[in-house]
Amino acid sequence: MSLIDIGVNFHASQLKGAGTELLARAADAGVTHILATGTSLSSSRSALEFARRHPRVWATAGVHPHTAKEYTAATGEALAALWADERVVAVGECGLDYNRMFSPMAEQRSAFEAQIQASLTTGKPLFLHCRDAFDDFHAMLREAAGAGAHGVVHCFTDGAEEAEAFLALGFDIGITGWVTDLTRGTALREAMRVIPLERLHLETDAPYLRPRNAGKTRPYNEPALLPFVAQAVAELKGVDAAAVAAHATANSKRLFGLPG
Ligand SMILES: [Zn+2]
Repeated sequence: MSLIDIGVNFHASQLKGAGTELLARAADAGVTHILATGTSLSSSRSALEFARRHPRVWATAGVHPHTAKEYTAATGEALAALWADERVVAVGECGLDYNRMFSPMAEQRSAFEAQIQASLTTGKPLFLHCRDAFDDFHAMLREAAGAGAHGVVHCFTDGAEEAEAFLALGFDIGITGWVTDLTRGTALREAMRVIPLERLHLETDAPYLRPRNAGKTRPYNEPALLPFVAQAVAELKGVDAAAVAAHATANSKRLFGLPG
């Protein structure tokens, strides 16, 4: 079984300096490609540097809604240099987060809009984040889709109705260990019914969201635990984990243009 982890936060303090051994454990677990998530200009730069040092790692570059208030014209120019790099395979993490409101709504929307435009210009897919902001997020995505944008709603945690709305616009869905959470994950577990294997991606979002079915074998989440997410998806869909892995891997290679 081979897997692609489309979301790892190497900039998080828990993963600092964890590079070589973490990547070896990932390879042993069948994780062949990893995307290092950029959530700010500085973490996008460090994600790209990390990707340059490790042949099986690629990066995203963008500004998360939490840090949207830092997004200026200069940020956009600096990010443009990263988006031009072939090891940067997506624009984001970007989107809207009205849950914690670390940036005001208007600034979140303008940073998101700038990154939608960058995705359209570069042709690179959007790596999307939405939390408690469905109406505004969906309205902006609908317009973006009309202009030809594509991408994945990463760490999707909502229910079937929201999943269907994103799928109808042509966006794929990223599934994390949230799906293994029998309490918080109820809506997502139900939504797995309407998310086709042809449209999903797997991600750990490490070091966060350690899959519940993985036990406490590691101190925090990491790419080597991705098979547990595949296993949970397989159980909910009534198919083999190998089938889930094969589809998700093909989907991620196609969306991000990753080599075989
Ligand atoms: Zn996110």
